[in-house]
Amino acid sequence: MEVCRTKSAIRAQLADWRPAPIVLVPTMGFLHEGHLSLMRLARRQAGTTGKVVTSIFVNPTQFGPGEDFGSYPRDEARDFDLMRKEGVDAVFAPEVSEVYDPAAQTIVETTELAKVLIGKLRPGHFRGVATIVTKLFNIIRPDAAVFGEKDYQQLAVIRTMVRDLDMGIEIIGGPIQREPDGLAMSSRNVRLSPADRAAAPILARALDEAEALAPKGITASRLRSHVRATLEAETRAHVQSVDIRDAHSLETIAGPLTRPAVILLAVKFGQVFLIDNRVVQPPQEEP
Ligand code: AMP
Repeated sequence: MEVCRTKSAIRAQLADWRPAPIVLVPTMGFLHEGHLSLMRLARRQAGTTGKVVTSIFVNPTQFGPGEDFGSYPRDEARDFDLMRKEGVDAVFAPEVSEVYDPAAQTIVETTELAKVLIGKLRPGHFRGVATIVTKLFNIIRPDAAVFGEKDYQQLAVIRTMVRDLDMGIEIIGGPIQREPDGLAMSSRNVRLSPADRAAAPILARALDEAEALAPKGITASRLRSHVRATLEAETRAHVQSVDIRDAHSLETIAGPLTRPAVILLAVKFGQVFLIDNRVVQPPQEEP
């Protein structure tokens, strides 16, 4: 596996490999099974002739003031070992100063999607995401890129940006990987206290309940109240938001569910911000 620290090094490496198809998996490192599942998806997508490229970059511009940029967990040597085992061909792992020119003045923003849901809780977050992903796409120029459905709104932002700006990169979503007790894997889980770690699977349980209730013909607002009550019964869970949106457009839903919907959760345990989601089905139409 080639380790590239600079834009020129990764570009030179990729120039050697082209025209082999290139599949990119961007990460912020501190890898877990969720990341590795995306690398396997990328490996399959790239086939025997293609190359899998990953990035490890904790992107400062997607963290707000007072968020956990400084304390975000890192372990690069372990990450490189795990990537080698997954057959990753090259990793781009630059310093912040290599990526951002202090004189930069250009941003990428999905104007509507960036304002809602997590965008409301974390102002500027999706502008940071869209801008860094655009820069990674321009540096690496992949044919396809793989992102996790765990970050549902992020995936929607990236699909929208690729469509709106004619980037011509295939975007592939990978399913959420979970711990045996249902907690969605996240690099941030290691920062949960033992008591919070024990309480955190409440997100998955609330989503399981919603998944069972949705096909029975409950309205979106009643489903939302039910999920919120389940979460709030866990006193360690500080609910930031519970939203039910159209699974494709992310538009709000009023009244009964008639199309697949996504339940989006954001919950804090102490200082640790966790998200999770589930796509649920409406009642089946009578034949
Ligand atoms: P991160 O390092 O948190 O920025 O995540 C890098 C990529 O891994 C993103 O596309 C995430 O959506 C994805 N990811 C994170 N956690 C999971 C998970 N539990 N299952 C599947 N994909 C995940």
